[in-house]
Amino acid sequence: MADSSRARPTVVVLGGGYAGIQVARPLDDEADVVLVEPKDDFVHNVAALRALVDPSWLERIYLPYAGLLSHGRVIRDRAIKADADRVVLASGAELFPDYLVLATGSGYPFPAKSDVPDTQAAHAMVRGTHTALASADRVLLLGAGPVGIELAGEIKAVWPGKQVTLVDVASDVLGERYRPDLKAELRRQLTDLGVELLLGSALRDEPPTAAGELGTFAVTTQAGAEVTADIWFRCYGVAPVSDYLAGGLAAARRADGFVEVTPELLVAGQDRVFALGDVSAADQNKGAGAASRQAPVVVGNIRALITGTGGLTRYQPPPAAIIVPVGPDGGAGQRPDSADLVPAEVVAQLKGRDMMVQRFAELLGASTAGS
Ligand SMILES: Cc1cc2nc3c(=O)[nH]c(=O)nc-3n(C[C@H](O)[C@H](O)[C@H](O)COP(=O)(O)OP(=O)(O)OC[C@H]3O[C@@H](n4cnc5c(N)ncnc54)[C@H](O)[C@@H]3O)c2cc1C
Repeated sequence: MADSSRARPTVVVLGGGYAGIQVARPLDDEADVVLVEPKDDFVHNVAALRALVDPSWLERIYLPYAGLLSHGRVIRDRAIKADADRVVLASGAELFPDYLVLATGSGYPFPAKSDVPDTQAAHAMVRGTHTALASADRVLLLGAGPVGIELAGEIKAVWPGKQVTLVDVASDVLGERYRPDLKAELRRQLTDLGVELLLGSALRDEPPTAAGELGTFAVTTQAGAEVTADIWFRCYGVAPVSDYLAGGLAAARRADGFVEVTPELLVAGQDRVFALGDVSAADQNKGAGAASRQAPVVVGNIRALITGTGGLTRYQPPPAAIIVPVGPDGGAGQRPDSADLVPAEVVAQLKGRDMMVQRFAELLGASTAGS
């Protein structure tokens, strides 16, 4: 419960993704929260690939911010320059935070993420790409990490007859950090669905068409395998969004763009600026799940600083864990507390069927249309 005799400090949260909303909401009773976000709506991008193959999901995964805060406000704007005491927005407005939270996340090639701020325009882009994909008989996916695997599974679930080819320079799916038996299980499921895996060799040249556009082309891997396809998607390329950091905050920006933080999730060298989620270097395990685990640490530490009570809590990154759906009913995963893989049925319960929509709709105080 907030102490009403104390002046309410201003907490500015940059970015209204998974990390930002889970910091902004719990602090709403304690502080004047200002959430800065360029998008009209919260985008539940964990379900973005489902919406690509079935655009009826779009209404469910773009969730309004209107119900998020009771006292504070959401400003539809973009931070273009931020140091510890002053944030400049694209509109020219300036904010002077007592506490600043960097939650600007990461960019990823469309359709996994998009940086289109207008919801109607973003929906139109997904619908247009859906139409193109629906007309393509052969699909090439570059990148056999979690996004490439998930997209292959989504396409095969809706269009079992399409030829889907996954190409990666790495010699196995999913990436280095995960268990060999998990990779083997995902390979097995993909192969059973008829997905062709071309691993261990990059393409000699990128496809001549733009990603996501209909147009037949042929490409060859370094190893000499030829693929003819009608559309392709880039399924790699996470890029942290931290280019707006200035002054002392720019010093904490690593060469790879991630923001260095202390175990308390304070930006390195700062005592009132926090960073969490995809933009932060706190955890190698990037994900909405990691952002959800980091948010209570940031909230608790800001509360402790505001009230002057208690010490700061440290964030302990958990061992590698992941669930990867392969369509609504397939997939596999690994958990740190189990020697067994997470079976398809559990992956479907955790993600594949409802794509975790309900949880985030509740957090935003929104109803889920059509769920
Ligand atoms: C297809 C796909 C499936 C995924 N599935 C899972 C899953 O099943 N489980 C899981 O744990 N993770 C999953 N992830 C990862 C997860 O989506 C990310 O880790 C998560 O989005 C990170 O949350 P975030 O809030 O840190 O960043 P983001 O979600 O990227 O949010 C950042 C927000 O900041 C805003 N912003 C950017 N720049 C500025 C600025 N200058 N000023 C103000 N605001 C700004 C952006 O518009 C955005 O809304 C998936 C990712 C993809 C792409």
